[in-house]
Amino acid sequence: ARGAPQSGARAEWRQQQTQKKELGKRTSMTIKEQRESLPVFKFRDSLLKAVHENPLLVVVGDTGSGKTTQLTQYLAEGGFGNNGLIGCTQPRRVAAVSVAKRVAEEVGCQLGKEIGYTIRFEDNTSPETVIKYMTDGIMQREILLDPELKKYSVIMLDEAHERTIATDVLFCLLKKALKRRPDLKVIVTSATLDAEKFSKYFNECPIFSIPGRTFPVEIMYSREPETDYLDAALVTAMQIHLTEPPGDILLFLTGKEEIDTSCEILYERMKALGPSVPELLILPIYSSLPSEAQSQVFEPAPSGARKLVIATNIAETSITIDGIYYVIDPGFVKQQAYDAKLGMDRLQVTPISQAQAKQRAGRAGRTGPGKCFRLYTEAAYQSEMLPTTIPEIQRQNLSNTILMLKAMGINDLLHFDFMDPPPTNTMLTALEELYALSALDDEGLLTRLGRQMADFPMEPALAKTLITSAAMQCSDEMLSIVAMISTQGEIFSRPRAEQQKADQKKARFHDPAGDHLTLLNAYQGYKGANYDFGWCRENFIQARSMKRARDVRDQLITILQRHRLPIVSCGRDSTRVRQALCAGYFRNAARKDPTEGFKTLVEGTPVYMHPSSALFGKAAEHVIYHSLVETTKEYMHQVTVIEPKWLVEAAPTFFKVAPTDRLSKRKKQERIQPLHSKFADADAWRLSAQTRPGK
Ligand code: ADP
Ligand code: MG
Repeated sequence: ARGAPQSGARAEWRQQQTQKKELGKRTSMTIKEQRESLPVFKFRDSLLKAVHENPLLVVVGDTGSGKTTQLTQYLAEGGFGNNGLIGCTQPRRVAAVSVAKRVAEEVGCQLGKEIGYTIRFEDNTSPETVIKYMTDGIMQREILLDPELKKYSVIMLDEAHERTIATDVLFCLLKKALKRRPDLKVIVTSATLDAEKFSKYFNECPIFSIPGRTFPVEIMYSREPETDYLDAALVTAMQIHLTEPPGDILLFLTGKEEIDTSCEILYERMKALGPSVPELLILPIYSSLPSEAQSQVFEPAPSGARKLVIATNIAETSITIDGIYYVIDPGFVKQQAYDAKLGMDRLQVTPISQAQAKQRAGRAGRTGPGKCFRLYTEAAYQSEMLPTTIPEIQRQNLSNTILMLKAMGINDLLHFDFMDPPPTNTMLTALEELYALSALDDEGLLTRLGRQMADFPMEPALAKTLITSAAMQCSDEMLSIVAMISTQGEIFSRPRAEQQKADQKKARFHDPAGDHLTLLNAYQGYKGANYDFGWCRENFIQARSMKRARDVRDQLITILQRHRLPIVSCGRDSTRVRQALCAGYFRNAARKDPTEGFKTLVEGTPVYMHPSSALFGKAAEHVIYHSLVETTKEYMHQVTVIEPKWLVEAAPTFFKVAPTDRLSKRKKQERIQPLHSKFADADAWRLSAQTRPGK
């Protein structure tokens, strides 16, 4: 990995960006003028009329036309907020927050009052809230608790073209809710031309099109395939800056590390050119960036300077930055994909689809005629890219979704009204997984445990781990571990200039049993230091992630209490913690391979200890891991040493002790193998309606 988020150069660069921000003047247009200049404004009244007349409406309009920020306000102005909330879902957390902020600014209220947002583990709404932005995942949780969504008067499923699993599931559930709530309004918005398909699915509802205001974009392809797209992208950015007329640049990269590194490299290159070249403001944007830094990308560059925004595909449609004339598109995106062989989701860098390429190019034509530099050949565009992105529901693990649907009493998954049904095999795998986790019984019905699991906003395996820890009397410890894992942010920072020192500090938290307990040690240290940020800094621990972990932990306590699950500490007996981990992650077990690395128990795939693991270079025979990340090799992340017999105890329907007569008892216990027979054939019982008489 090339990331080094906080080297000296970067800190210096940050500081300069902040100073420049002071200089940068806001555009001279007032907010009212800005609002009225958006393409959607002309259609305000007819849109309101259409919503009044139709329970369902599909709204299509180019990105940046004002759908997300304006429609909700029109609805509020039109009185739709008087007897219920106006809810608007976003596939991405960043978009939900950034849009809510912007709208609060436009309305002139404090964020969290009339205009609020909710994302996982973070609720910024109040009783006064009229417009609520949220992730589609949050709305999915809300509909689980209240299938009719009585709190809401209008729901806008925004960015429907992204086709996330949660949005797809909401399609069906809202369609159902409408049957019982004739007063409810559902608006589905999309930036692309799949409106017909949406309309057809939504009972042939009307389509409202907002004509865009776009300028032609000249498309340039690479003549030869690029061997290093990152380098090519940076060179292109510099060339544009030095040779092209004014206009800001938008570069699409795949993730935080790549973006941070690129910002640094470009900053250095610009510095090397000296003061004679015009200024280039380099601004990153990705979801884990602190929100103050995110707002900076919207500020216009000071006169004479050019802005270069380096973004993940969040800038493809979810957020719109004005003033972009040049787009650099290397043609890649990082996305979750289900790996059937490993039986799990994995983040992978993959080529984008033609539809995405078009969206990206379109970003250059919003303010005037623009240019898009595609860092791939035209032949690659034509023959190697899929026309449209495959909906998530057809390429990701569904255990989460199926657990939720089962918890809503939806058992007949085969006849569930998906817009694009997931492959039967993916559904079966998910059902198997839930069965092995004891969330479903022999007949495919939700167990009590399964119902509890559905209440935790996290992957089923993690929920099971936490619930089990209560019975195993180590929930106090597991809460910290689960909270630390759920923050999804970096915990241990490792600045390039001080790597050795950072590693030494981290080693002091290392637990001989592995990374989960190392995380626990770090959290205990933080707690012991009274949640002090200074302590975090001293120990090269990210204070922001820790604060979040503490918040998440508090919220998880509430859920445990709701289920009357006790919060008990195991004291020094951390063996229990490891056993409880097996209850959720038995699938992710691996055994030391005599030659090299490890092999997973389930599929026998070679996997390796990540160098950042507390167990790296240590002896470990059997381990479980939290996730796999593929870089040069398949690396296990968050690894813990276990005893194989714990696996059989944790998942007797999944593992058995191998029938080898002549081995000693101890050896036998090490010879465990996965049981596959139960799922050999895809019989329909696990998919179709399961209703017991009298139930
Ligand atoms: P759409 O949903 O149709 O893509 P939006 O409502 O997101 O359009 O955007 C409308 C306009 O609001 C755009 O011109 C965009 O630049 C502006 N905008 C959106 N968010 C912000 C923000 N956080 N700060 C400044 N301007 C913003
Ligand atoms: Mg939008």
